[in-house]
Amino acid sequence: MQIPLLDLKLQYAAIRDEVAQAIDKVCESQFFALGPAVAEFEENVAAYCSSKFAIGVSSGTDALLISLMALGAGPGDEAITTAFTFFATAGSIVRVGAKPVFVDVDPDSFNIDPAAIEEKITEKTKAIVPVHLYGQIADMNAVNEIARRHNLAVIEDAAQAIGASRNGTKAGNFGDCGCFSFYPTKNLGCFGDGGLVTTNSDDIAEKIKILRNHGQDPAYFYKIIGGNFRLDGIQGAVLNVKLKYLDSWNDKRRQNAWLYDSLFADSPVKTPEIDTDNVSIYHQYTVTVPERDKLQEFLAENQIGSAVFYPKPLHLQDCFAELGYKEGDLPVTERLCNEVLSLPVYPELSPEKIEHVAGIVLKYYGMS
Ligand SMILES: *Cc1c(COP(=O)(O)O)cnc(C)c1O
Repeated sequence: MQIPLLDLKLQYAAIRDEVAQAIDKVCESQFFALGPAVAEFEENVAAYCSSKFAIGVSSGTDALLISLMALGAGPGDEAITTAFTFFATAGSIVRVGAKPVFVDVDPDSFNIDPAAIEEKITEKTKAIVPVHLYGQIADMNAVNEIARRHNLAVIEDAAQAIGASRNGTKAGNFGDCGCFSFYPTKNLGCFGDGGLVTTNSDDIAEKIKILRNHGQDPAYFYKIIGGNFRLDGIQGAVLNVKLKYLDSWNDKRRQNAWLYDSLFADSPVKTPEIDTDNVSIYHQYTVTVPERDKLQEFLAENQIGSAVFYPKPLHLQDCFAELGYKEGDLPVTERLCNEVLSLPVYPELSPEKIEHVAGIVLKYYGMS
């Protein structure tokens, strides 16, 4: 049985007609940059996230970039973040001229370790950028408490966490800005690149709306230097259709994750630990295992897809060499890079397929 890490064709087949109609409507209107489809999606996704504002932008990366710009982060500033994340979290900090300061992650949640933040705060610190990795919200009570005490901005990298909640509050409402990605492989994916910023601040929302269109307000009069961070009308239309199904898809991911959890009980496979305050959307179902690379090879031989998110921590990447980090600086992060493995968890997988994947994993450890 062949089981890829992700198969988007099944999802597409289920919504094909609805999506085709929505795209056709945009084509008929010829509103391709922002326009009514994006406005409608923004309204719906703001309601979905329970955020006052939701502003569509060109990608998750640009959501981070424009949030940092809106909060005034720039040369001379530092932003504290995690090194166990996708490149864009730190890349966007450097692109506004600021310096990323990496701290280690919690060994259970894999999210930023609040206890490691405070000692890295200097007079240059401008913001904290926690990431809700794999669909689980970071310990935002602790992060926000530190941010309040030191008067720091908080930008949530919620690219992997749309619909996730902590104590009933949805991702995107803990910080000054919440940054989302609609890259096709995300839980809510569009047909290309897309992203979104949520905020509950009138001022920040106003600034982001101006920044995403070159800083113009009104047309052809430029208040500030922005860029082209617009979301396409076609992406807005696709996302509007898909948003209706997001909760049911996230539910199915959770069912699949819980089935894996039970199948891996009493095995060498360490299953994801979800804080009791959290509802995860399992963007990834990521275990830590002994002999990770050999297990991954064994899975490939058995036609099962898997992936390592992420094989090399950001603080040791060549592009950040001048920040001066060395091996051993972030021990939990570095260990996780050698031990994590993400298994197929997408909503369309049947229980039989989850059992099959788990069976092959356990077979590698001589347990089935
Ligand atoms: C996907 C992702 C991004 C970037 O989103 P794009 O839409 O691909 O630009 C940023 N941060 C994290 C944690 C992500 O997973």
